Amino acid sequence: SNRIRIDKLLAHMGIGTRSEIKKAVKQGKVSVNGKVIKDSGLIVETEQTEIAFENAPVVYRDIVYFMMNKPEGVISATEDARERTVIDLLKPEDRLRDPFPVGRLDKDTVGLLLLTNDGQLAHELLSPRKHVAKTYEALVRGDVGDRDKQSFAAGVTLDDGYVTMAAELHVKSRENREDSVYSTISLTIMEGKFHQVKRMFEAIGKKVVHLKRVSMGPLLLDESLPEGAYRELTEEEIERLR
Ligand code: URA
Repeated sequence: SNRIRIDKLLAHMGIGTRSEIKKAVKQGKVSVNGKVIKDSGLIVETEQTEIAFENAPVVYRDIVYFMMNKPEGVISATEDARERTVIDLLKPEDRLRDPFPVGRLDKDTVGLLLLTNDGQLAHELLSPRKHVAKTYEALVRGDVGDRDKQSFAAGVTLDDGYVTMAAELHVKSRENREDSVYSTISLTIMEGKFHQVKRMFEAIGKKVVHLKRVSMGPLLLDESLPEGAYRELTEEEIERLR
């Protein structure tokens, strides 16, 4: 079992900031085991305490945040009839807390994937109105150049007629292989349409042959994580997300 300050617990549950909660306690909005409390520093037992905020029960849930370096060959879903999912890569004790992937990476895409059971944070990161920046590194078949940079900055038309928002393309290197020139690029997009990066390159007649996400909003992929590995976010990373 677990003992925690009531203000910390309520903040953790997304009820408000610590100072908002302190105020709410003073106003008599918080009760513990049926009694209104006056001390926001009260220590409670997370498992056996009935907590109410403005008369509504607060169900304690341990919020978790994991950063995974998603490997190829697994899908970004919580369950699937046939395929292995990113949840299958979690240790059983971490799976118990019901994390789910925040957004999707294609089966063959690798890199940064956030998993959490914090529905509100996930909602905010995925909201199309928030324009959260996502940066990808890709190996592209073809000679990616300045014209493509300008096209992506202006917006390109995808196969379904959708015109993409301004995106920032950098060409990092080029190499000649037997069949073609290949370009290593990074691309930052502020939206997340289905297969967006691959379809943006299709729109300019080039093919993504390898795709890796390296950042999402303020979160950067921890390059010390091997593909398939994951770790909890640090306090500092969680703060930056909020
Ligand atoms: N764009 C894609 O095409 N695929 C991904 O997995 C992510 C972005």
